[in-house]
Amino acid sequence: MHEQRLHALRRSMSHASLDGLLVTHLPHVRYLTGFSGSNGLCIITRRSQCFITDTRYRDQAKSEVKHFRIVTSRNSLFEAAAQEPAMARRMRLGFDSKHLSVAGWQSLKKHLRRIALVPTESFVDGLASIKDDSEIASIRRAVRISDEVFSLIIHLLKPGLSELDVAAEIGYLHRKLGAEADAFEPIVASGPRAAWPHARASAKRIRSGEVVILDFGCRVNGYNSDCTRTVAVGRPSVRMRKVHQIVLDAQLRAVDAARGRIAARTLDAVARSYIKKMGYGKFFPHSLGHGLGLEVHEAPRISSLSKDFIQPGNVVTIEPGVYMPGLGGVRIEDAIIIREDDCSVLNRSPKELLML
Ligand code: ZN
Ligand code: ZN
Repeated sequence: MHEQRLHALRRSMSHASLDGLLVTHLPHVRYLTGFSGSNGLCIITRRSQCFITDTRYRDQAKSEVKHFRIVTSRNSLFEAAAQEPAMARRMRLGFDSKHLSVAGWQSLKKHLRRIALVPTESFVDGLASIKDDSEIASIRRAVRISDEVFSLIIHLLKPGLSELDVAAEIGYLHRKLGAEADAFEPIVASGPRAAWPHARASAKRIRSGEVVILDFGCRVNGYNSDCTRTVAVGRPSVRMRKVHQIVLDAQLRAVDAARGRIAARTLDAVARSYIKKMGYGKFFPHSLGHGLGLEVHEAPRISSLSKDFIQPGNVVTIEPGVYMPGLGGVRIEDAIIIREDDCSVLNRSPKELLML
């Protein structure tokens, strides 16, 4: 599996006339090498590949990284990279400009003086956006755990609980059911706070008649789930029930249109134009979705500005939302696998408005 990824990467490198590629973004390092630690990089040239980490990871790297020569160093990773024999000659070395800090860039320039550093984007992003069977199996497992968490959480939700209480239960249940970690801090936003698309869970207590946005995910083998449901505790206003139906219809339309190879912005427009037609266009301020894998947000981006294309093998989220300041909001999010003629929805949690 890692050999195939390297092979595909070398093909792209050769198209871009690169002699080598420096990969520093940890999810990309993991994708290529299998390393799951927090400090490491890899250098792939046309004929060789090496993985560099610090001495804390000597044993872990040996057990996780199979197809790379492993170098452990007490120096900074860029200093260690400069010692590599491949770096001794003049070459064009690509690096991911999106994921290198200014300090990292300065250190690279200092240590790799003879090398022509070429900023690149999306070499690994593009490759990693097409999932193989083992990756899909891990995402499926993570989604199944989150589905199970949702089925348990809806029995716990009641007036008087704080958003933080609910977030703590989600995190606990994820781990109890076999996940490594939360994919991100769970979002639990109730009542007027549900109008903030990315509200953090707070000490606010949930009141009867409020809607609650639950946006949560977990991680299995490094792969993430990401799911949102909006439920009501008690009976919400007619307006919120109507908004929920509009968001659900928009979500179903987009899921229905997601297949084959289409421009991401065309898919975004399916949900956005429907919400606009129903009179809530200006209350849908974010993109429709994103790729999901080793990162919670990865390629392709599904927004009205995106230049990405959706292709078979992508795992993406579809998550329209409508947020009305002072009143509340609704978001519904599923992860789907794009196939040639349709898509497969991974989440099984009910999407209709549950009134608990
Ligand atoms: Zn989410
Ligand atoms: Zn998401």
